[in-house]
Amino acid sequence: MMPNVCVACKPPKEFQDLDILAGQYWTIRLHVNQTYLASCVIVLNRHLEDMFNISPEEREELFHLTRSLRDVIRTQFKSNLFNYVSLGNVIKHLHLQVIPRYDHDVEFDNLKFYDHNWGKNFTLTDTDNLIPQATKVKIIKVIKDSLLI
Ligand SMILES: [Zn+2]
Repeated sequence: MMPNVCVACKPPKEFQDLDILAGQYWTIRLHVNQTYLASCVIVLNRHLEDMFNISPEEREELFHLTRSLRDVIRTQFKSNLFNYVSLGNVIKHLHLQVIPRYDHDVEFDNLKFYDHNWGKNFTLTDTDNLIPQATKVKIIKVIKDSLLI
């Protein structure tokens, strides 16, 4: 029998390095893909696959963390809109992608970010998100320093 392998239950170091905040039930992590500046994922700390099976306590913390994260990204990165996405196609372990959208070009750490699809569904491209790890660390610091949980 195949061992039960879940990348979110046992995150590799490259994921753990992107951790922003560990809550009691959820962990906020910078999205590996920064096509949209300051994109994050909020991952449930236990293995579960369907959003509508979470407990009331998990639901309360999810809403609290997501609201706080949204406010920080909106203030610090001047985003105009948020896409909240829970798909489960690639990683079944329950997580919510928080994708900030921008109606204008944004610059961070001397890098330019363009929201090519403003007004349409987002698409995560492989080529636009190749930003240095050092820049990701700076984004994490900005978010971490402003999160008042
Ligand atoms: Zn899992």
